[in-house]
Amino acid sequence: MRLVSIIVPCYNEEQVLPLFYPEICKVADECREKDCEFEFIFVNDGSRDNTLAVVKEFAASDPRVKYVSFSRNFGKESAMFAGLEASSGSMVAIMDADLQDPPSLIPEMIRILDEEPYDCVGSRRVTRKGEPPIRSFFARMFYKIMRKMSKTEIVDGARDFRMMKRPMVNAILEMREYNRFSKGIFSWVGFRTKWLEYENVERAAGETKWSFRKLLLYSIDGMVAFSTTPLAVSSVLGLIFCLVSFIALIIVFVRQLIWHNSVGGWASAMCIVFFISGIQLFCIGILGQYLAKTYMEVKKRPIYVVSESNISDDSAAS
Ligand code: UDP
Ligand code: MG
Repeated sequence: MRLVSIIVPCYNEEQVLPLFYPEICKVADECREKDCEFEFIFVNDGSRDNTLAVVKEFAASDPRVKYVSFSRNFGKESAMFAGLEASSGSMVAIMDADLQDPPSLIPEMIRILDEEPYDCVGSRRVTRKGEPPIRSFFARMFYKIMRKMSKTEIVDGARDFRMMKRPMVNAILEMREYNRFSKGIFSWVGFRTKWLEYENVERAAGETKWSFRKLLLYSIDGMVAFSTTPLAVSSVLGLIFCLVSFIALIIVFVRQLIWHNSVGGWASAMCIVFFISGIQLFCIGILGQYLAKTYMEVKKRPIYVVSESNISDDSAAS
């Protein structure tokens, strides 16, 4: 028998967990003939509702259910990392609790990892049906810019729903960075990935945890974590402005020598002063973003803090 770990980050999911759990159990039953045993690792990311109680109820009657509960909300990235650390399966899948990641794809993922030469099966949605159009627009923009800026390939529409073999999981666990941007991390570690495509499914119950503000901050995190292009752009801007000002200097100098009328053009001069100081502040801001991230990394704070769990330390693979 092989062990398949299913990691489920949960933040305020009391409504949807009772729908999710039977579905995943059904899938586990289906896979029995494939010689697969399952463990379900629910990571309670500091939920304010009864998520933990619901998970404990599952655990009471099902030895396959493991849980890790955080001391507060650390975000989905931390929850996924905690799940990977707690997992001991030879295949590990990450999926959302809200049934937006169809559990029915799991048997197909196992089949692909078994029969085809891949280390990882990812999923990407080809439509964004049911999402506010403005959000889709910004999401598309983000992927476009990211593709231009970063050497690490960030796939448009890729979800965190994926199944990986153990070597890839171990590689990800090696990356103990504090500012985690999984879409980048998954792709940075490499390995052969097959993409399954599917239409967007709407949440089964409850609400999305991502506000527009959170998504925007997340996208900045992603850019800073996987690209230093903004720094290069600000250096280039600096050079261009130096060049322009040097030419302007020569023009003013020559004009003064020939016609003695360098005064005048006050308004345009002011505009230029404002423009240049704007650019300077902008570039210092970019620098600041990187510095802030570096500051957080240097502190080496833990990625999450556990308050409760039913997993003993030595049973986890790493
Ligand atoms: N999630 C989490 N911590 C957070 C936010 C979300 O663990 O701070 C979990 C959430 O419970 C769900 C998954 O991440 O299982 C995806 O969240 P959601 O469905 O709200 O995001 P969306 O599908 O809208 O991108
Ligand atoms: Mg969702």
